[in-house]
Amino acid sequence: MLKKIEQVYRLYEEYTASIDSACEKYCADCCTINVTLTGLEGRYLFAGLPQSDHEALADRLSVWRDKARFRPVYSTNAFAMKCRDREDVEDEENRLEWGECPFLHGNACSIYDLRPFGCRSMISRQKCAEHGYADMDQYLLTLNTVFMQFIEHMDTGGFFGNLTDVLLRLSGGNDPQLATTLNNPIPALMVPPAHQKEIAPVVDELARIVATPLERACDIP
Ligand code: SF4
Repeated sequence: MLKKIEQVYRLYEEYTASIDSACEKYCADCCTINVTLTGLEGRYLFAGLPQSDHEALADRLSVWRDKARFRPVYSTNAFAMKCRDREDVEDEENRLEWGECPFLHGNACSIYDLRPFGCRSMISRQKCAEHGYADMDQYLLTLNTVFMQFIEHMDTGGFFGNLTDVLLRLSGGNDPQLATTLNNPIPALMVPPAHQKEIAPVVDELARIVATPLERACDIP
């Protein structure tokens, strides 16, 4: 599965290589403590680090353990299920001022090649600091959502959560305070009608890598 997640990351790079982006090294406004990932991505991250770094990483993360951070109630596919069934969703608290990512050093990512999809997919057409928010093309939002749905699907039954919680869990902390939620299979792809034709080849390639049959797509209400 770790090879497959790498294939998915490479595929995403191919599809976004020509996207107009203002992102560059040392621009780290999106590198907050609120980043999320699946357990599979956490295992990919650990697998890419030398064994000798694992303990130091767990120690470093334990400093973050009591900090306020975004803890998602819904995984992407749980949200898709709610969307498909036209059910209400709870508001989730996510604040910028909770601070920066534990992997940010000197305004650069210390695990750049191993970073999770949530970081890879934050591509803005404008400098976020200048405008206070990222500016993303609507199709890029759809592309990101579809990739997230497949990445979660690959780790069905595993867990999803804040980076600090997921990595602490993977390094042996079975503390119930390490709040994570469960990964789900794709219930329906969240693709608006205007993007269904353009996204179709991407979906086919993801389905081939992940080896999952596709059932149907749905519109975002
Ligand atoms: S893992 Fe790296 S790229 Fe992602 S938020 Fe942290 S510092 Fe930024």
